[in-house]
Amino acid sequence: MNQKHRVLVTGAGGFIGHHLVKRLKADGHWVRGADLKSPEYEPSAADQFEVLDLRKSDNCLQATRNVDQVYNLAADMGGIGYITSSLAQISKNNILINAHMLDASRLNGVKRFLFSSSACVYAQYKQKNPEVTPLREEDAYPADPEPGYGWEKLFAEELCRYYWKDHQFETRIVRFHNVYGTLGTYDGGKEKAPAAISRKVALATDEIEIWGDGEQTRSFMYIDDCVEGLIRIMSSDYREPLNLGTDEMVSINQLVDMISKIAGKNLVKRHDKTKPQGVRGRNSDNTLLEKVLGWSPSISLERGLVPTYKWIEKEVKKVALY
Ligand code: NAD
Repeated sequence: MNQKHRVLVTGAGGFIGHHLVKRLKADGHWVRGADLKSPEYEPSAADQFEVLDLRKSDNCLQATRNVDQVYNLAADMGGIGYITSSLAQISKNNILINAHMLDASRLNGVKRFLFSSSACVYAQYKQKNPEVTPLREEDAYPADPEPGYGWEKLFAEELCRYYWKDHQFETRIVRFHNVYGTLGTYDGGKEKAPAAISRKVALATDEIEIWGDGEQTRSFMYIDDCVEGLIRIMSSDYREPLNLGTDEMVSINQLVDMISKIAGKNLVKRHDKTKPQGVRGRNSDNTLLEKVLGWSPSISLERGLVPTYKWIEKEVKKVALY
């Protein structure tokens, strides 16, 4: 557990990657970050940060030199509006990143590679009801994932398995369920529900627009639990996909009420049913995660939303000043 590593985090300019770099540095590891862009809201804590397009194999070879662990978080991704908007481009970009990153890591003698998959791999026919049965890892098959982004993640999981089978290359596969927290995108179209709703609440005076009827359900994991889970899964000896999320399911209407309460605002909800809302219900079954790690995320939504909302409110006010 106390062993120090040389670690590459891809997507280190993004939300989860930036937090993970900070935590790895605090734990005493040497860290290289790689991304198309630097973090937006504060400088990276990485020892080295390289701006690289990881769709190109040469750049993946450069990024993976002299490291023993790789957390591959780089991806073209965003909320439901974004991932349903350009299926070809998102799929192509992510196929290239994941295929080249896996191969470059193996060629450079990396000891362990963690792939960040998603709950979007789960079969859509199992998520048609807001009272959804929590999803177990085997519920990804028979396959019917989210078009584009979900299909690519599911195939990249398979690719990790093939690299183990053919090359004994050690991979770990994490299926994130919605992650939220401070220092994450909150506007521009790539933001996800908790950040988008926090921004809307911070700007609202009497009314708030909600995508769909708001009865669609999800679970949300605070960033500190996400980072803790990532490090534990990387250290484990488990090679098959594992859920990483909470099993505290809420509807989007409930999420709006929780954020409005933190803001001290009483807002009228206006539902726009023409907007994309994704699957009807989604929740994480953490039985396997608990069995493998003896741990699961524990920060409640009520607790995690407080710093998240306060940070976004501060950002929104800062922007309004200019
Ligand atoms: P993010 O968008 O904040 O970070 C992803 C980063 O990847 C961005 O900084 C982006 O610039 C970078 N990137 C994109 N294309 C690149 C390229 N060609 N070369 C180099 N870098 C590139 O997203 P995040 O929320 O931090 O997600 C991290 C990982 O977790 C992703 O793989 C994502 O699919 C997965 N995931 C996240 C969630 C969530 O709720 N946040 C849920 C499921 C899965």
